[in-house]
Amino acid sequence: ERDLAPPLTVNARVAPLGSRLVLAMLEDRTRERRVEEVRRDFVANVSHELKTPVGAIKILAEAVEDAAEDPEAVRRFASRMRVESDRLTELVHQVIELSRLQATDPGDLQGVVPLDQVVAEAVDTSALDAASRDVTLVVRGETGLAVRGVPHLVSAAVSNLVANAVAYSGDHTCVVVETRADERVVEISVIDQGIGIAPAEIERIFERFYRVDPARHRSTGGTGLGLSIVKHVAATHGGDVKVWSVEGQGSTFTLVLPRHLATDTGTPGTEAAA
Ligand code: ADP
Repeated sequence: ERDLAPPLTVNARVAPLGSRLVLAMLEDRTRERRVEEVRRDFVANVSHELKTPVGAIKILAEAVEDAAEDPEAVRRFASRMRVESDRLTELVHQVIELSRLQATDPGDLQGVVPLDQVVAEAVDTSALDAASRDVTLVVRGETGLAVRGVPHLVSAAVSNLVANAVAYSGDHTCVVVETRADERVVEISVIDQGIGIAPAEIERIFERFYRVDPARHRSTGGTGLGLSIVKHVAATHGGDVKVWSVEGQGSTFTLVLPRHLATDTGTPGTEAAA
């Protein structure tokens, strides 16, 4: 039964209802199988990605034991251990976020998410990284907007977009977070002047664990999960995420989410540099 192949043709005129039912069942079975494959790939990828920093930390710990007489070397190894454990923490955090996303209760999607707060949090999270490379974070557009959804998921999505914009920007550039809305949806655009993305890569960057040429990146911290979280948050909320990018010039990611019109007090206009 497991190897049941879909029929090549189904004669709909003979038994329309029955064959449609069979087709639907087969489609269900194919979909189930695909979901199972994706799940298995994901577990394999996560295991692989977890093993890398754990292995590095073990080797570094051994190096610290061997270098007990050399304080300078101990300090160097310890600092690399910290980088690797940060990476591990980020990975675990994002995997948990992804699995929570998959278990989102439809009822939770009706929550009120104040967008100003979400944007402020996202900017805060990236402020240190931005300041260390003189990247200016600018927030502009409509204030007082509210999204209909799950607060921590909307926050995770916006934070990921801002963190990416800063991470893939050059020194002394600008990252703009712009909010606007119509009666139905809220749009949050994150605009950077960074390295950009080649057209051939654009399709793939939303895949789990996909990273464009990791060697080219200054940051070693990336997990390749950020944009898949953004995509899932958009899909779960009945929204969308769009990207425009020119290699060497910069990218704009726009997250579209349903507006919670009953509660927001949208007022167009203000600009603030953070
Ligand atoms: P990562 O943890 O590597 O940032 P993401 O899923 O967030 O993973 O992004 C996937 C890849 O897409 C990144 O590795 C990077 O190559 C590319 N990318 C994402 N955001 C940007 C951006 N603002 N500018 C240029 N490249 C980006």
